[in-house]
Amino acid sequence: MELSRLDQILQQMIRIDTTSGIRPEKPCIEYIQSLLETAGISTEIFARDEQRPNLLARIPACAEAGEEKPPLLFYGHVDVVPVTDQQWSCDPFGAEVKDGYIWGRGAIDMKGEVAMFIGLALAVAEQKLKLPFELRFLFVSDEEGDGIYGMSYLVDQHPEIFEGIKWAFGEIGGFTFHALGKKIYPVMVAEKQFAHLRITAKGEGGHASLAHHGTAMEKAAEAVVALAKNRLPVRITPPVQMMIEGFADIAGGVSGKMLRRLLHPAKTDKTLKLLGTAGALFEPLLHNNINVTIISGGSAINVIPSAVSFQADMRLVPGCSIEEGIEDVRSLIGEDFTIEVVTYDPGSNTVDMRLYEQIAQTLRACEPEAEPVPFVLSGVTDGRFLSKLGIQTYGFTPMDLPQDYDFTALAHSADERIPVGTVDFGTKVLLRLLRQLQEAEF
Ligand SMILES: [Zn+2]
Repeated sequence: MELSRLDQILQQMIRIDTTSGIRPEKPCIEYIQSLLETAGISTEIFARDEQRPNLLARIPACAEAGEEKPPLLFYGHVDVVPVTDQQWSCDPFGAEVKDGYIWGRGAIDMKGEVAMFIGLALAVAEQKLKLPFELRFLFVSDEEGDGIYGMSYLVDQHPEIFEGIKWAFGEIGGFTFHALGKKIYPVMVAEKQFAHLRITAKGEGGHASLAHHGTAMEKAAEAVVALAKNRLPVRITPPVQMMIEGFADIAGGVSGKMLRRLLHPAKTDKTLKLLGTAGALFEPLLHNNINVTIISGGSAINVIPSAVSFQADMRLVPGCSIEEGIEDVRSLIGEDFTIEVVTYDPGSNTVDMRLYEQIAQTLRACEPEAEPVPFVLSGVTDGRFLSKLGIQTYGFTPMDLPQDYDFTALAHSADERIPVGTVDFGTKVLLRLLRQLQEAEF
């Protein structure tokens, strides 16, 4: 099968193994740099570690295009998750073309999307589009790690890269989600916030030959069980409300009514149960959630420890503060614990929807059946670092996907693949979005 130029670029990138933290991103970044430089686009490297560089490309606004608007940022990561312990039916770094797909690690997370952004930059440069706003593109390392060589590093050490930017486009959103008999296109507008907590129980220490009650070990064990067995209280925040109302409008009728019941805290959990698997999509967005992942305490077999700690991965719904999150944890375990916040990446308190309508209109223009809906991600992306600078990310990398294709199931999985032509579709929609924004007030 003859592949388009962009699909070939994607193939090249898949063939460069960039397993996060194991193989360097440098060769992939250099490949992108050469493509952009050849098209006359100026680029610059920012690196904390030269093997794990980040690439900035800029296309300046055109003076003839009228009053200059704020610059727009398109960003993506080039590292990928490992393939170890996965059963692949093909070489994960072979980028083989089979059954209408390009197969390989990173096809949808997110070298396919990176290829769309490259396609967009090349199209703007080659067609000499006169845009009233500067375009910046960032291709980064270390998203699948913790970003300390990638976006977190750039935001902390090179904030000048982001000067003037209010809106950015990144991963996870704009793909077809076949549900309710419709082609729904979730556009990510907010994500959950990550917090790492250390919770410590204290009690009398002593000799293990004697009977003890109310020890630190006992209290910690009870708390771990309480957190595992119970949901944290329902918390409905504005971005999630917007998402559920959007889905309810698309569904209409009885299903729509049912979805709206999720927004009444007294009915939320009961409705989730009634919704079954469909409810699983909304469940983590209507509660903060917490998972205990590390336990430590005690050092000798015959000594009762006076303190036992456990660490937990907590995910807060957007718009919820860390204090409210801790309050939720205390509602399950009580006051008898010290709770320490080890890390917390606060998200933005508000969602800036100013470009959303333009995105939705563009989607409908390119795919008349599309039903766009604002969407909140239960995971996290590099968008969390940008929100520290007050930048709103829209997860929008448009993909027109077949009904039997499950985007969320394939990311990070064996046999990750993307339909041939998807990159070109995404580039086409993004190009149209730029033309639409050219005219728009923002
Ligand atoms: Zn990703």
